[in-house]
Amino acid sequence: MPASYQSPTRGDVNQKTTVSQSTKSNLASGTATVANLISGKGNDVFAISPEDTLGTAVELLRDKRIGALVVTDSAGSLRGILSERDIVRKLAETPGRTLPQQVKEVMTTNVEVCAPKETLVSVLRRMTDGRFRHMPVVENGAPNGMITIGDVVNYRLNELEHEALQLKQMIVG
Ligand code: AMP
Repeated sequence: MPASYQSPTRGDVNQKTTVSQSTKSNLASGTATVANLISGKGNDVFAISPEDTLGTAVELLRDKRIGALVVTDSAGSLRGILSERDIVRKLAETPGRTLPQQVKEVMTTNVEVCAPKETLVSVLRRMTDGRFRHMPVVENGAPNGMITIGDVVNYRLNELEHEALQLKQMIVG
């Protein structure tokens, strides 16, 4: 067996992993950033005001075919996030009386945001730990894009396909 295939034993002094063995170097997504994803997806972000009604919110969610809205005040500052899940919860709590209620009564105010330079791995970790699927991108104090867990998974899938193709081309020559 070549020496490089032998598993390390207790007496071995140098147990450092090589570059090709580190998880980070094998995952391109370890270095891909929010800015990379946004440059392909665009920085559209759909916003609603805290005083708007849930009726307006559901129409916007339907028309834009999205699952969450950022809530901004008249100065454009982020005040909260409203997702379809918040609306479903309210529908169950106040049947028949939900749509006239104001966004500010239902939204989540403690919003986790990301910056363009954050890695996608870090965003995915925070979304998974926090159990939410949306993350507004904030730049210079204002929302400038929205990332969903689906976007991150899709980005990584494309990277994997690209990497597989490169490997195939290396093998075939
Ligand atoms: P979602 O999975 O994104 O539909 O959201 C599930 C719950 O998490 C809802 O109550 C949302 O208001 C909330 N939520 C969604 N995105 C965020 C975020 N980036 N920061 C904090 N809460 C969020």
